[in-house]
Amino acid sequence: MHKAQSPTSLTEPETFKIINPATEKIIAQIKTATPEQADQMVKEAACAQAGPWSQMPARERGRILLNMASLIRNRRDELAQLETENTGKPIRDSRDEVSSAADCFEYYGGAANKFFGETIPVASKGLGLTLREPMGVVAAIVPWNYPLVLASWKAAPALACGNSVVLKPASWTPLTALALKTIADEAGLPKGIFHVLVGPGKTVGMSLISNPWVSKISLTGETNTGKEVLKIASERMKRVSLELGGKSPNIVFDDVDIEACVESSIFSVFSNCGQDCCARSRFLVSEKIYDRFADALIQRTRQLKIGDPNDPATEIGPMITQSHRQQVLNYIEIGRQEKAELAHGGTISSANGNGRGYYLRPAIFTGVSNSMRIFREEIFGPVVGITPFKDETHAISLANDTIYGLSGSIWTKDIARAIRVARAVKSGVLSVNSSSSVHLEAPFGGYKQSGLGRELGMKAMDNYSEIKTIFFSET
Ligand code: NAD
Repeated sequence: MHKAQSPTSLTEPETFKIINPATEKIIAQIKTATPEQADQMVKEAACAQAGPWSQMPARERGRILLNMASLIRNRRDELAQLETENTGKPIRDSRDEVSSAADCFEYYGGAANKFFGETIPVASKGLGLTLREPMGVVAAIVPWNYPLVLASWKAAPALACGNSVVLKPASWTPLTALALKTIADEAGLPKGIFHVLVGPGKTVGMSLISNPWVSKISLTGETNTGKEVLKIASERMKRVSLELGGKSPNIVFDDVDIEACVESSIFSVFSNCGQDCCARSRFLVSEKIYDRFADALIQRTRQLKIGDPNDPATEIGPMITQSHRQQVLNYIEIGRQEKAELAHGGTISSANGNGRGYYLRPAIFTGVSNSMRIFREEIFGPVVGITPFKDETHAISLANDTIYGLSGSIWTKDIARAIRVARAVKSGVLSVNSSSSVHLEAPFGGYKQSGLGRELGMKAMDNYSEIKTIFFSET
């Protein structure tokens, strides 16, 4: 089949240490694949996809996905524990994420036989219709911040459409992806249809996306990674969907209940330690309530329970790695140099006072202006900048003054204003008087440099299927 075209020559697999970010202890050692092994996996996935899987009735495919949903749900505690040990996220969040992954497989298990083509009233004498066909091998590449959830967002719809999947987790967080492989086997997914490829993006990931037998690349990651992937994909016109970075606004008008707004908004930026593409890292607040809002936010942030991720009361765990925490600390220094005021946090902390774990106290900058780097760049950590606005027009212009357009919230009791602002803000996902971003049944994705295409809901099926038009002549 495909002669190895990997960017590196045949290499020995490396052994990668998986570290618990809360304790800094090694919890697993994983052999990363070589680019040649990546090629072999793609070859197997291509052969398996072309076999009985592509002929299997959609209902049968759906049943296998429903089996996967049940197995994930039955192992919720075990998977949540694994995710928490690997990522440091609070156990209550991990449990919710595992449930959400099960819900995702259930949704697409049900969707498999409810997704079909159309008959079209063409002008010529005859019958025009479309078929939805699988693309072939899907490379599903995910980051480290929501490992199991994001794997399910890609694998479930791709499999429902009849593709095979090679899932590449981030090198730091492969454990739940590997567990998903075991679950897929137990659920009855035919051999070769689902693979997990562990290794660095620059070598193994590159080899995967360069392989000519990969028809579709679905990547969640940084905007710069998305740009690199697009370049490679363009050579062979591979299908691509991208979920990338963000710098989302939280727009607060002067008619809100400040306490209620703060209580929700705080988690829109600090949950998962700010390592969230939808993090509302820019709080745009009416100048009429700016001081009161900032005070309330600082007070509430002081009360956040930072600590051991295994404690069900913990709200904020550690960051993913020491190096990532250092990058975020560098941004805090940049903010200081830009003369924003660090009103709270931004210092190293630890769960038990023993100095262990990659903890960082959530940071609040006030007096942030839109020329500052901390307003413009994705920090991907627990850092928020608050900026005052004069009126609705000013709020909209600040909200849109970014290369990103993923998510955001609008807080006001004035429904007409909420509608106007929601229409004017250039983001793929917005919520009014809420911090929620993700609803499994609704499309999710970004405007501008936050991505291409939409995941979730029935829209995701477009990501993983080709449309074939057939005309039957009557004459
Ligand atoms: P990343 O871009 O460094 O890596 C993402 C994945 O891509 C990893 O599996 C990595 O190994 C792989 N990769 C990197 N370079 C590659 C290449 N050249 N070819 C193939 N694969 C490659 O991102 P990260 O640091 O893991 O995650 C954080 C980023 O992800 C943030 O920018 C965040 O906003 C974004 N993100 C976006 C969404 C969304 O839905 N829009 C969700 C979560 C995270």
